[in-house]
Amino acid sequence: MTPKSAAAAAQATVYGYPRQGPNRELKKAVEGYWKGRVTADALRETAAGLRRTNWRRLADAGIHEVPTGDFSYYDHMLDTSVMVGAVPARHRAAVAADTLDGYFAMARGTQDVAPLEMTKWFDTNYHYLVPELGPDTVFGADPAKQVAELKEALALGLDPRPVLVGPVTYLLLAKPAPGVPADFEPLTLLDRLLPVYAEILGDLRAAGAGWVQLDEPALAQDRTPAELNSAARAYRDLGALTDRPKLLVASYFDRLGEALPVLAKAPVDGLALDFTERAAGNLEDLAAVGGLRGKRLVAGVVNGRNIWINDYEKSLATLGTLLGLADRVDVAASCSLLHVPLDADAERDIDPQIARWLAFAQQKTTEIVTLAKGLAQGTEAITAELASNRADLASRAGSALTHDPAVRARTAAVTDADGRRSQPYAERTVAQRAHLRLPLLPTTTIGSFPQTDELRAARADLRAGRIDTAGYEERIKDEIRDVLAFQEKAGIDVLVHGEPERNDMVQYFAEQLTGYLATQHGWVQSYGTRYVRPPVLAGDISRPEPMTVRWTSYAQSLTERPVKGMLTGPVTMLAWSFVRDDQPLGDTARQVALALRDEVDDLEAAGTSVIQVDEPALRETLPLRAADHAGYLEWATESFRLTTSGVRPDTQIHTHMCYAEFGDIVQAIDDLDADVISLEAARSHMQVATELAEHGYPREAGPGVYDIHSPRVPSAEEAAGLLRKGLEAIPAERLWVNPDCGLKTRGWPETRASLENLVTAAREVRSGL
Ligand code: GLN
Ligand code: ZN
Repeated sequence: MTPKSAAAAAQATVYGYPRQGPNRELKKAVEGYWKGRVTADALRETAAGLRRTNWRRLADAGIHEVPTGDFSYYDHMLDTSVMVGAVPARHRAAVAADTLDGYFAMARGTQDVAPLEMTKWFDTNYHYLVPELGPDTVFGADPAKQVAELKEALALGLDPRPVLVGPVTYLLLAKPAPGVPADFEPLTLLDRLLPVYAEILGDLRAAGAGWVQLDEPALAQDRTPAELNSAARAYRDLGALTDRPKLLVASYFDRLGEALPVLAKAPVDGLALDFTERAAGNLEDLAAVGGLRGKRLVAGVVNGRNIWINDYEKSLATLGTLLGLADRVDVAASCSLLHVPLDADAERDIDPQIARWLAFAQQKTTEIVTLAKGLAQGTEAITAELASNRADLASRAGSALTHDPAVRARTAAVTDADGRRSQPYAERTVAQRAHLRLPLLPTTTIGSFPQTDELRAARADLRAGRIDTAGYEERIKDEIRDVLAFQEKAGIDVLVHGEPERNDMVQYFAEQLTGYLATQHGWVQSYGTRYVRPPVLAGDISRPEPMTVRWTSYAQSLTERPVKGMLTGPVTMLAWSFVRDDQPLGDTARQVALALRDEVDDLEAAGTSVIQVDEPALRETLPLRAADHAGYLEWATESFRLTTSGVRPDTQIHTHMCYAEFGDIVQAIDDLDADVISLEAARSHMQVATELAEHGYPREAGPGVYDIHSPRVPSAEEAAGLLRKGLEAIPAERLWVNPDCGLKTRGWPETRASLENLVTAAREVRSGL
């Protein structure tokens, strides 16, 4: 290979595309089908139309190989389970009766059968359905969907490349089926799974596939030598097949690390690697193994995880280095474009000066094509594009939005002392006890109360101009009065205002902070038909005025009991937004923390004695590789402390976390230096209480005793049982009584009954102490 011939062959490609359509047509069709308003044929027709439009759009933009099989009615991991015949026993009858209904039953459950469990796809906000496997699992190839979509694209005269979840990642992301011992390792099924992949690859080849992509992002995580051996075996076996398509093994979200030499040596035809900053290391590692002799390299230089324009010169420099390291170098996004919204041009409300910094899936596609052209034909071929890219980047770097001198001066002046409370926990707790005078086992909730139809209607009325701000605020106040009255009557000790004014725990703050942008159409799939519209951390962050104080103060004016102030913490504000790529995450977190710190201080000044700063995302943004954990946890915990350390010792700081296994971050939880933490625990029978105790966690904690994910009402005896369990790990002086999480998704009847039972349980256990 010569760099010159590798360059001349450069092509543009992508691994996957947003599925929903410009007006969320897929969501409407699927939900319509569930409600019986859309027929199966109409749903299939909508889906096929969306696929056609996407492929045409990609091909028209200049993408050479278009991906197929990445489309999904619900989730591509669920599609993979279907493809390999891993349908759980409890769903087999439904699938046999009707493939489509059976598929949705696996995804969502039915009256009688539970769905597959759902969990996060690596560190994205996309959720997949977890395969359930056991020693008795019998796989069987069902290539129908993959083959059909390949044929659809071929029929359009395109050059399609089917994209499949690779066998190693599929097994590594699976879990033991119900009833199978927890220590069962799905990867032990590899030998049974490989023949199924072999058969599917053969079918795809027969149907006309030249290349097939096998996605192995799980190899970008820390893997044991045994797991790496399995990967080596998988690709040795698949590579050895005769009459197979060419195999492209893709990884993304982090560096391949020890898996890189394994795949580089494997008898496959190409590798796709992430070359964005989060996977830094791939470039050096690739050089260290001497490049990919005789193989194709697909270079993910356009970031598929953010919404910012690419830096063409930087990418071309990377691509230039890569030319000497493979027989052919193609250009791609770092991962599927599933994780970004569809089209930045649809945003009409964003200042055009700022909109030019944005690249969603469609714009990223153009960037990929431009870079491939620059690589193949030389930079002379993209002179105009380079010039406008340079100008856009300069406009961003020089903008007052991204460089606010006041914010910069303030973050630069932060000292270690700003992130430390004036007294240690042991002294603060004495002051807080005297100040708050709470009973043992105090009861509280996590913040939100049911978001009723009336509240949603009020927001819609405000948006549509049917009521004015004053009218809207009256409705919010009515709700706060009701929520307060209920809590007083139920006998809860630390009250909340119920968060009725918040559309979402991140968006509500993003809308009020300078430096944040909202999009109108920036929908990204979270799971199934649920899409979110993450706000964009675009510039330096500041808080022009208090955001929550009036609602908390209003609630406090209605009661003698303490009302807890409620804020979303800096880590969660970052985790559920699109973040800046022009400064370290820790710098952005620090800016958000200082803005929130002002809010905390203002709440205290307004008479709030208990303030909760939620960090449900602390665990989920933990980097994929253990070597990167310490660096992340350092800025994450520092930004939390910066938010909360400006208050008096007798002001009690709470935090809250959910959806996670906390075992591996107990030290970080301790480092937050909060006074009280509430955690999700009801489903795991207070396991977190034990985890905290084993670590020697010295502070107060409220492991949840009411599972808010289901409408089920826990009885007082059940809650008391959980509390007694909690008391085995945490002494009564430090144990709180609360639900697992906020109540916004629950209805009022079950909320009332559950909280009344929770108070009864607390009183009963208290009286026995
Ligand atoms: N305070 C928020 C609420 O109660 C917390 C939500 C969360 O942890 N996800 O809704
Ligand atoms: Zn929660």
